[in-house]
Amino acid sequence: METDYKIKEAPTCPHCKAVMEKMDARNLDWGTTFLWVCYNNDCAPFKKGWQHMMDKYGQLVSYRFMMTPDNGTTGVIPAFSSEYLTKAGKPSNPYMDPDAVNKYYEVPDEE
Ligand SMILES: [Zn+2]
Repeated sequence: METDYKIKEAPTCPHCKAVMEKMDARNLDWGTTFLWVCYNNDCAPFKKGWQHMMDKYGQLVSYRFMMTPDNGTTGVIPAFSSEYLTKAGKPSNPYMDPDAVNKYYEVPDEE
């Protein structure tokens, strides 16, 4: 149940202090309807991620800091560049559209 989520208010990213935003996670494997994601393009993991992923996997991909709303587990999710998406043919990837959550799904602020 979403109302049981522990992290209901947008948390602050520990890396860059930006306020995190909701990302639709219903099609992902986290078991929650959304994830809190740092969309700041100056966030350290995101900025460093490009080079790291290119060195390691040869892919133009980075990652963004995230937190699950149900218990506050932190981690990273892939963040694809628009160039990568064009090549990969997945323009509808939800990672590229921070507003997707609000378009498809609205989470009440308070119960
Ligand atoms: Zn951040």
